Amino acid sequence: MSANYSLSARIESMEESATLAMAKKARELKAEGKDIISLSLGEPDFQTPDHIRQAAKDAIDSGKYFSYPPVAGYNELREAIATKLKEENGIPSSPEQIVVSAGAKHSIANVFFSILNPGDEVVVFSPYWVSYAEIIKLAEGTPVYIKGKLENDFKATAEDLAAAITPKTKAIIYSSPSNPTGGVFTLEELESIAAVLKNHPDILVVADEIYELINFSGKHYSMAAIEGMADRTITVNGFSKGFAMTGWRVGYISAPVRIAKACEKMQGQFTSGVNGIAQQASITAIKGDKKASEEMAAAYKSRRKLVLDLLNQIEGIKTYEPKGAFYIFPDVSSFFGKAFKGKTISNANDLSLLLLEEAQVSVVTGAAFGDEDCIRISFAASDEQLKIALGRIKEVLDQLK
Ligand code: PMP
Ligand code: GLU
Repeated sequence: MSANYSLSARIESMEESATLAMAKKARELKAEGKDIISLSLGEPDFQTPDHIRQAAKDAIDSGKYFSYPPVAGYNELREAIATKLKEENGIPSSPEQIVVSAGAKHSIANVFFSILNPGDEVVVFSPYWVSYAEIIKLAEGTPVYIKGKLENDFKATAEDLAAAITPKTKAIIYSSPSNPTGGVFTLEELESIAAVLKNHPDILVVADEIYELINFSGKHYSMAAIEGMADRTITVNGFSKGFAMTGWRVGYISAPVRIAKACEKMQGQFTSGVNGIAQQASITAIKGDKKASEEMAAAYKSRRKLVLDLLNQIEGIKTYEPKGAFYIFPDVSSFFGKAFKGKTISNANDLSLLLLEEAQVSVVTGAAFGDEDCIRISFAASDEQLKIALGRIKEVLDQLK
Protein backbone atom coordinates (compact mmCIF):
# COMPACT_ATOMS: atom_id res chain seq x y z
CA MET A 1 0.00 0.00 0.00
CA SER A 2 1.36 3.40 -0.83
CA ALA A 3 1.55 6.10 1.83
CA ASN A 4 -1.25 8.62 1.83
CA TYR A 5 0.21 12.10 1.64
CA SER A 6 -0.26 15.15 -0.52
CA LEU A 7 2.34 17.37 -2.13
CA SER A 8 2.37 21.12 -1.61
CA ALA A 9 -0.16 23.21 -3.52
CA ARG A 10 2.87 25.25 -4.55
CA ILE A 11 4.48 22.38 -6.44
CA GLU A 12 1.18 21.00 -7.73
CA SER A 13 0.39 24.29 -9.46
CA MET A 14 3.88 24.74 -10.88
CA GLU A 15 4.56 24.01 -14.56
CA GLU A 16 7.50 21.77 -15.39
CA SER A 17 10.22 23.55 -17.39
CA ALA A 18 9.16 22.95 -21.02
CA THR A 19 12.72 23.27 -22.31
CA LEU A 20 14.02 20.65 -19.90
CA ALA A 21 10.96 18.42 -20.41
CA MET A 22 11.48 18.41 -24.18
CA ALA A 23 15.20 17.72 -23.74
CA LYS A 24 14.36 14.80 -21.45
CA LYS A 25 11.89 13.39 -23.95
CA ALA A 26 14.44 13.65 -26.77
CA ARG A 27 17.04 11.90 -24.58
CA GLU A 28 14.61 9.08 -23.77
CA LEU A 29 13.71 8.55 -27.43
CA LYS A 30 17.42 8.53 -28.34
CA ALA A 31 18.01 5.90 -25.66
CA GLU A 32 15.30 3.79 -27.31
CA GLY A 33 17.41 3.88 -30.45
CA LYS A 34 15.45 6.59 -32.32
CA ASP A 35 17.52 8.93 -34.47
CA ILE A 36 16.37 12.17 -32.78
CA ILE A 37 18.03 15.50 -33.52
CA SER A 38 17.59 17.74 -30.53
CA LEU A 39 17.07 21.41 -31.31
CA SER A 40 15.10 21.93 -28.12
CA LEU A 41 17.64 22.65 -25.42
CA GLY A 42 19.36 26.01 -25.27
CA GLU A 43 22.80 24.67 -24.68
CA PRO A 44 26.07 25.40 -26.50
CA ASP A 45 27.26 22.35 -28.44
CA PHE A 46 30.88 23.39 -27.81
CA GLN A 47 33.25 22.21 -25.12
CA THR A 48 34.35 24.55 -22.34
CA PRO A 49 37.59 26.21 -23.59
CA ASP A 50 40.88 24.50 -22.57
CA HIS A 51 42.28 27.31 -20.42
CA ILE A 52 39.13 27.29 -18.26
CA ARG A 53 39.27 23.51 -17.86
CA GLN A 54 42.94 23.79 -16.91
CA ALA A 55 42.07 26.35 -14.21
CA ALA A 56 39.64 23.86 -12.67
CA LYS A 57 42.29 21.12 -12.70
CA ASP A 58 44.76 23.50 -11.06
CA ALA A 59 42.16 24.41 -8.44
CA ILE A 60 41.68 20.74 -7.58
CA ASP A 61 45.43 20.10 -7.43
CA SER A 62 46.00 23.09 -5.17
CA GLY A 63 43.82 21.44 -2.53
CA LYS A 64 42.56 24.87 -1.49
CA TYR A 65 38.96 24.70 -2.62
CA PHE A 66 37.41 21.68 -0.96
CA SER A 67 35.67 23.44 1.92
CA TYR A 68 32.48 25.53 2.02
CA PRO A 69 33.04 28.61 -0.11
CA PRO A 70 31.78 32.03 1.07
CA VAL A 71 28.02 32.19 0.39
CA ALA A 72 28.14 35.13 -2.04
CA GLY A 73 31.24 33.82 -3.83
CA TYR A 74 35.02 34.10 -3.46
CA ASN A 75 36.20 37.69 -3.25
CA GLU A 76 38.50 37.25 -6.21
CA LEU A 77 35.57 36.22 -8.41
CA ARG A 78 33.30 38.97 -7.11
CA GLU A 79 36.04 41.51 -7.76
CA ALA A 80 36.65 40.16 -11.26
CA ILE A 81 32.92 40.34 -12.04
CA ALA A 82 32.57 43.89 -10.71
CA THR A 83 35.60 44.96 -12.77
CA LYS A 84 34.19 43.33 -15.92
CA LEU A 85 30.82 45.03 -15.43
CA LYS A 86 32.47 48.42 -14.95
CA GLU A 87 34.98 48.14 -17.79
CA GLU A 88 33.02 46.22 -20.41
CA ASN A 89 29.45 47.25 -19.67
CA GLY A 90 29.71 50.68 -18.06
CA ILE A 91 27.80 49.42 -15.00
CA PRO A 92 28.78 51.00 -11.67
CA SER A 93 29.46 47.90 -9.56
CA SER A 94 31.50 46.78 -6.58
CA PRO A 95 32.26 43.33 -5.11
CA GLU A 96 29.67 43.75 -2.34
CA GLN A 97 26.99 44.12 -5.03
CA ILE A 98 27.85 40.76 -6.56
CA VAL A 99 26.27 37.45 -5.55
CA VAL A 100 27.49 34.31 -7.31
CA SER A 101 24.88 31.53 -7.57
CA ALA A 102 24.41 28.06 -9.02
CA GLY A 103 23.57 29.37 -12.48
CA ALA A 104 21.68 32.46 -13.58
CA LYS A 105 18.44 30.54 -13.02
CA HIS A 106 19.31 30.38 -9.34
CA SER A 107 20.25 34.08 -9.38
CA ILE A 108 16.83 34.98 -10.78
CA ALA A 109 15.09 32.84 -8.15
CA ASN A 110 17.07 34.54 -5.38
CA VAL A 111 16.09 37.94 -6.73
CA PHE A 112 12.35 37.31 -6.98
CA PHE A 113 12.20 35.60 -3.61
CA SER A 114 14.04 38.57 -2.13
CA ILE A 115 11.95 41.38 -3.63
CA LEU A 116 8.38 40.09 -4.09
CA ASN A 117 5.47 40.16 -1.68
CA PRO A 118 2.18 38.37 -2.42
CA GLY A 119 0.28 40.15 -5.17
CA ASP A 120 3.22 42.18 -6.46
CA GLU A 121 3.21 42.38 -10.24
CA VAL A 122 6.19 41.81 -12.48
CA VAL A 123 6.00 43.02 -16.06
CA VAL A 124 7.51 40.28 -18.22
CA PHE A 125 8.62 41.12 -21.75
CA SER A 126 7.07 38.36 -23.81
CA PRO A 127 7.94 36.00 -25.49
CA TYR A 128 9.93 35.22 -22.36
CA TRP A 129 12.19 32.51 -21.04
CA VAL A 130 10.07 29.72 -19.50
CA SER A 131 11.37 29.92 -15.96
CA TYR A 132 10.60 33.61 -15.34
CA ALA A 133 6.87 33.04 -15.00
CA GLU A 134 7.12 30.01 -12.74
CA ILE A 135 9.72 31.60 -10.45
CA ILE A 136 7.63 34.76 -10.10
CA LYS A 137 4.51 32.73 -9.29
CA LEU A 138 6.38 30.55 -6.81
CA ALA A 139 7.47 33.76 -5.06
CA GLU A 140 3.75 34.70 -4.92
CA GLY A 141 4.08 37.44 -7.49
CA THR A 142 1.90 37.91 -10.57
CA PRO A 143 3.47 38.00 -14.02
CA VAL A 144 1.95 40.60 -16.35
CA TYR A 145 2.94 40.01 -19.96
CA ILE A 146 3.65 42.59 -22.62
CA LYS A 147 4.00 41.03 -26.01
CA GLY A 148 6.37 41.93 -28.82
CA LYS A 149 5.58 41.40 -32.50
CA LEU A 150 7.57 39.35 -35.02
CA GLU A 151 7.93 42.45 -37.21
CA ASN A 152 9.89 44.11 -34.36
CA ASP A 153 12.01 41.04 -33.54
CA PHE A 154 9.38 40.28 -30.89
CA LYS A 155 10.48 43.21 -28.72
CA ALA A 156 7.73 44.79 -26.63
CA THR A 157 8.05 48.57 -26.52
CA ALA A 158 8.25 51.34 -23.94
CA GLU A 159 4.62 52.18 -24.80
CA ASP A 160 3.58 48.61 -24.05
CA LEU A 161 5.38 48.90 -20.72
CA ALA A 162 3.75 52.22 -19.84
CA ALA A 163 0.32 50.70 -20.46
CA ALA A 164 1.04 47.67 -18.25
CA ILE A 165 2.27 49.50 -15.16
CA THR A 166 -0.11 49.56 -12.18
CA PRO A 167 0.33 50.61 -8.54
CA LYS A 168 1.21 46.95 -7.86
CA THR A 169 4.12 46.80 -10.30
CA LYS A 170 7.26 45.88 -8.40
CA ALA A 171 9.66 45.02 -11.21
CA ILE A 172 10.12 44.31 -14.90
CA ILE A 173 12.18 41.52 -16.46
CA TYR A 174 13.53 41.00 -19.95
CA SER A 175 16.38 39.13 -21.58
CA SER A 176 18.55 40.81 -24.21
CA PRO A 177 19.76 39.06 -26.31
CA SER A 178 16.49 37.24 -25.83
CA ASN A 179 15.64 33.66 -25.20
CA PRO A 180 13.48 32.52 -27.08
CA THR A 181 13.59 35.09 -29.91
CA GLY A 182 17.16 36.36 -30.25
CA GLY A 183 15.85 39.94 -30.11
CA VAL A 184 18.39 42.50 -28.91
CA PHE A 185 17.44 45.86 -27.41
CA THR A 186 19.16 48.86 -28.96
CA LEU A 187 20.43 51.65 -26.74
CA GLU A 188 17.51 53.82 -27.85
CA GLU A 189 15.00 51.13 -26.88
CA LEU A 190 16.56 50.72 -23.44
CA GLU A 191 16.60 54.48 -22.98
CA SER A 192 12.92 54.72 -23.86
CA ILE A 193 12.12 52.00 -21.31
CA ALA A 194 14.21 53.90 -18.74
CA ALA A 195 12.32 57.09 -19.60
CA VAL A 196 9.00 55.38 -18.77
CA LEU A 197 10.43 54.13 -15.48
CA LYS A 198 11.59 57.62 -14.55
CA ASN A 199 7.97 58.34 -13.62
CA HIS A 200 7.86 55.22 -11.44
CA PRO A 201 10.91 55.40 -9.18
CA ASP A 202 9.93 52.35 -7.09
CA ILE A 203 9.98 49.85 -9.96
CA LEU A 204 13.04 47.59 -10.21
CA VAL A 205 14.53 46.21 -13.41
CA VAL A 206 15.82 42.66 -13.75
CA ALA A 207 18.03 42.71 -16.85
CA ASP A 208 18.98 39.20 -17.94
CA GLU A 209 22.15 39.55 -20.00
CA ILE A 210 23.23 35.91 -20.07
CA TYR A 211 23.52 35.88 -23.88
CA GLU A 212 25.69 39.02 -23.87
CA LEU A 213 28.58 37.36 -25.69
CA ILE A 214 26.35 35.94 -28.44
CA ASN A 215 25.30 39.15 -30.12
CA PHE A 216 25.36 39.65 -33.90
CA SER A 217 24.11 43.22 -33.77
CA GLY A 218 27.42 44.83 -32.86
CA LYS A 219 27.17 46.12 -29.34
CA HIS A 220 25.59 44.92 -26.12
CA TYR A 221 23.85 47.55 -23.98
CA SER A 222 23.05 47.26 -20.29
CA MET A 223 20.15 48.93 -18.50
CA ALA A 224 22.28 49.51 -15.39
CA ALA A 225 24.67 51.65 -17.48
CA ILE A 226 21.90 54.13 -18.35
CA GLU A 227 21.88 57.24 -16.24
CA GLY A 228 19.69 56.97 -13.17
CA MET A 229 19.14 53.22 -13.55
CA ALA A 230 22.07 51.65 -11.64
CA ASP A 231 20.48 51.88 -8.20
CA ARG A 232 17.29 50.12 -9.33
CA THR A 233 18.60 47.54 -11.77
CA ILE A 234 19.64 43.98 -11.05
CA THR A 235 21.92 42.74 -13.81
CA VAL A 236 21.86 38.96 -14.26
CA ASN A 237 24.64 37.20 -16.13
CA GLY A 238 26.63 33.99 -16.00
CA PHE A 239 29.05 31.62 -17.64
CA SER A 240 26.73 29.01 -19.17
CA LYS A 241 26.22 30.44 -22.62
CA GLY A 242 29.15 32.67 -23.58
CA PHE A 243 31.79 30.29 -22.23
CA ALA A 244 29.99 26.98 -22.95
CA MET A 245 29.83 26.18 -19.23
CA THR A 246 26.20 25.12 -18.69
CA GLY A 247 27.13 22.15 -16.50
CA TRP A 248 29.46 24.11 -14.24
CA ARG A 249 26.48 26.01 -12.80
CA VAL A 250 27.82 29.49 -12.19
CA GLY A 251 25.74 32.64 -12.59
CA TYR A 252 25.71 36.00 -10.87
CA ILE A 253 23.93 39.25 -10.18
CA SER A 254 25.12 42.76 -9.66
CA ALA A 255 22.47 44.51 -7.59
CA PRO A 256 21.97 47.41 -5.22
CA VAL A 257 23.68 46.35 -1.96
CA ARG A 258 20.43 45.83 -0.02
CA ILE A 259 19.15 43.41 -2.66
CA ALA A 260 22.53 41.67 -2.93
CA LYS A 261 22.53 41.15 0.85
CA ALA A 262 18.98 39.77 0.72
CA CYS A 263 19.97 37.31 -2.02
CA GLU A 264 23.01 36.25 0.00
CA LYS A 265 20.76 35.62 3.01
CA MET A 266 18.37 33.61 0.83
CA GLN A 267 21.18 31.57 -0.66
CA GLY A 268 22.67 31.02 2.80
CA GLN A 269 19.55 29.11 3.80
CA PHE A 270 19.00 27.24 0.55
CA THR A 271 22.24 26.23 -1.15
CA SER A 272 25.28 28.09 0.30
CA GLY A 273 28.20 29.14 -1.88
CA VAL A 274 28.74 27.72 -5.35
CA ASN A 275 31.19 24.85 -5.96
CA GLY A 276 34.67 26.26 -5.33
CA ILE A 277 36.36 24.55 -8.29
CA ALA A 278 33.74 25.97 -10.67
CA GLN A 279 34.27 29.43 -9.17
CA GLN A 280 38.02 29.22 -9.78
CA ALA A 281 37.38 28.18 -13.39
CA SER A 282 35.00 31.14 -13.71
CA ILE A 283 37.72 33.56 -12.55
CA THR A 284 39.86 32.38 -15.45
CA ALA A 285 36.89 32.61 -17.83
CA ILE A 286 36.12 36.20 -16.90
CA LYS A 287 39.69 37.48 -16.72
CA GLY A 288 41.14 35.39 -19.54
CA ASP A 289 41.28 35.47 -23.31
CA LYS A 290 37.82 35.71 -24.95
CA LYS A 291 38.96 34.31 -28.31
CA ALA A 292 37.13 31.00 -27.82
CA SER A 293 33.90 32.85 -26.93
CA GLU A 294 34.28 34.99 -30.05
CA GLU A 295 34.80 31.92 -32.21
CA MET A 296 31.69 30.30 -30.80
CA ALA A 297 29.68 33.47 -31.44
CA ALA A 298 30.96 33.51 -35.04
CA ALA A 299 29.83 29.90 -35.49
CA TYR A 300 26.34 30.74 -34.17
CA LYS A 301 26.18 33.65 -36.57
CA SER A 302 26.93 31.49 -39.58
CA ARG A 303 24.41 28.87 -38.38
CA ARG A 304 21.79 31.60 -38.08
CA LYS A 305 22.19 32.21 -41.81
CA LEU A 306 22.04 28.52 -42.59
CA VAL A 307 18.88 28.02 -40.52
CA LEU A 308 17.21 31.11 -41.96
CA ASP A 309 18.00 30.04 -45.53
CA LEU A 310 16.59 26.57 -44.89
CA LEU A 311 13.49 27.79 -43.03
CA ASN A 312 12.75 30.27 -45.79
CA GLN A 313 12.48 27.34 -48.21
CA ILE A 314 9.54 25.98 -46.22
CA GLU A 315 6.25 27.38 -47.40
CA GLY A 316 4.09 28.68 -44.56
CA ILE A 317 6.84 29.47 -42.04
CA LYS A 318 7.26 33.12 -41.17
CA THR A 319 10.77 34.16 -40.12
CA TYR A 320 12.79 37.22 -39.12
CA GLU A 321 16.48 37.67 -38.38
CA PRO A 322 17.49 36.98 -34.74
CA LYS A 323 20.14 39.48 -33.64
CA GLY A 324 21.68 37.38 -30.86
CA ALA A 325 21.57 34.17 -28.76
CA PHE A 326 21.15 30.89 -30.67
CA TYR A 327 17.42 30.64 -31.15
CA ILE A 328 14.89 31.43 -33.84
CA PHE A 329 11.20 31.66 -33.03
CA PRO A 330 9.32 31.34 -36.32
CA ASP A 331 5.57 31.77 -36.65
CA VAL A 332 4.02 28.47 -37.71
CA SER A 333 0.36 29.43 -37.33
CA SER A 334 -0.36 29.00 -41.05
CA PHE A 335 -0.20 25.23 -40.45
CA PHE A 336 -2.91 25.24 -37.79
CA GLY A 337 -6.10 23.55 -38.95
CA LYS A 338 -4.19 21.43 -41.48
CA ALA A 339 -3.71 17.69 -41.10
CA PHE A 340 -0.89 15.16 -41.40
CA LYS A 341 -2.02 11.63 -42.29
CA GLY A 342 -5.48 12.42 -40.94
CA LYS A 343 -4.25 14.03 -37.72
CA THR A 344 -5.23 17.69 -37.38
CA ILE A 345 -2.65 20.15 -36.09
CA SER A 346 -4.44 22.73 -33.96
CA ASN A 347 -1.59 24.62 -32.30
CA ALA A 348 2.16 24.89 -31.69
CA ASN A 349 2.04 22.06 -29.11
CA ASP A 350 0.60 19.71 -31.73
CA LEU A 351 3.12 20.89 -34.29
CA SER A 352 6.14 20.33 -32.05
CA LEU A 353 4.88 16.85 -31.17
CA LEU A 354 4.36 16.12 -34.85
CA LEU A 355 7.93 17.20 -35.60
CA LEU A 356 9.23 15.00 -32.79
CA GLU A 357 7.28 11.95 -33.90
CA GLU A 358 7.41 12.27 -37.68
CA ALA A 359 10.57 14.30 -38.36
CA GLN A 360 12.39 13.06 -35.26
CA VAL A 361 13.46 16.60 -34.49
CA SER A 362 12.77 18.11 -31.08
CA VAL A 363 11.86 21.80 -30.86
CA VAL A 364 9.92 23.63 -28.13
CA THR A 365 6.35 24.89 -28.45
CA GLY A 366 6.01 28.67 -28.36
CA ALA A 367 3.22 28.29 -25.80
CA ALA A 368 5.90 27.67 -23.15
CA PHE A 369 7.35 31.11 -23.91
CA GLY A 370 4.04 32.96 -24.12
CA ASP A 371 3.38 32.82 -27.88
CA GLU A 372 1.13 30.08 -29.18
CA ASP A 373 1.79 30.83 -32.85
CA CYS A 374 5.48 29.98 -32.76
CA ILE A 375 8.02 27.24 -32.12
CA ARG A 376 11.55 27.69 -30.76
CA ILE A 377 14.39 26.18 -32.71
CA SER A 378 17.85 26.21 -31.12
CA PHE A 379 20.73 26.43 -33.59
CA ALA A 380 23.34 25.38 -31.06
CA ALA A 381 24.01 22.31 -33.20
CA SER A 382 26.44 21.47 -36.01
CA ASP A 383 25.81 22.60 -39.59
CA GLU A 384 25.37 19.00 -40.60
CA GLN A 385 22.77 18.30 -37.90
CA LEU A 386 20.95 21.52 -38.73
CA LYS A 387 20.81 20.65 -42.44
CA ILE A 388 19.42 17.18 -41.75
CA ALA A 389 16.95 18.46 -39.14
CA LEU A 390 15.62 21.30 -41.28
CA GLY A 391 15.38 18.94 -44.25
CA ARG A 392 13.25 16.56 -42.21
CA ILE A 393 11.08 19.38 -40.87
CA LYS A 394 10.45 20.59 -44.43
CA GLU A 395 9.51 17.11 -45.58
CA VAL A 396 6.87 16.78 -42.85
CA LEU A 397 5.48 20.31 -43.10
CA ASP A 398 5.21 20.07 -46.90
CA GLN A 399 2.81 17.16 -46.39
CA LEU A 400 0.40 19.12 -44.18
CA LYS A 401 -2.85 19.64 -46.06
N1 PMP B 1 18.26 33.28 -18.49
C1 PMP B 1 18.02 32.89 -19.75
C2 PMP B 1 17.36 33.85 -20.66
C3 PMP B 1 18.39 31.61 -20.18
O1 PMP B 1 18.14 31.23 -21.42
C4 PMP B 1 19.01 30.74 -19.28
C5 PMP B 1 19.42 29.38 -19.80
N2 PMP B 1 19.08 28.32 -19.13
C6 PMP B 1 19.23 31.18 -17.96
C7 PMP B 1 18.85 32.45 -17.61
C8 PMP B 1 19.84 30.33 -16.91
O2 PMP B 1 21.12 29.94 -17.21
P1 PMP B 1 22.04 29.14 -16.18
O3 PMP B 1 21.20 28.79 -15.01
O4 PMP B 1 22.53 27.97 -16.95
O5 PMP B 1 23.14 30.10 -15.83
N1 GLU C 1 17.96 28.14 -20.94
C1 GLU C 1 18.08 26.97 -21.75
C2 GLU C 1 16.82 26.82 -22.58
O1 GLU C 1 16.01 27.69 -22.59
C3 GLU C 1 18.41 25.74 -20.95
C4 GLU C 1 17.29 24.97 -20.33
C5 GLU C 1 16.68 25.70 -19.19
O2 GLU C 1 17.34 25.85 -18.18
O3 GLU C 1 15.56 26.14 -19.38
O4 GLU C 1 16.67 25.86 -23.26
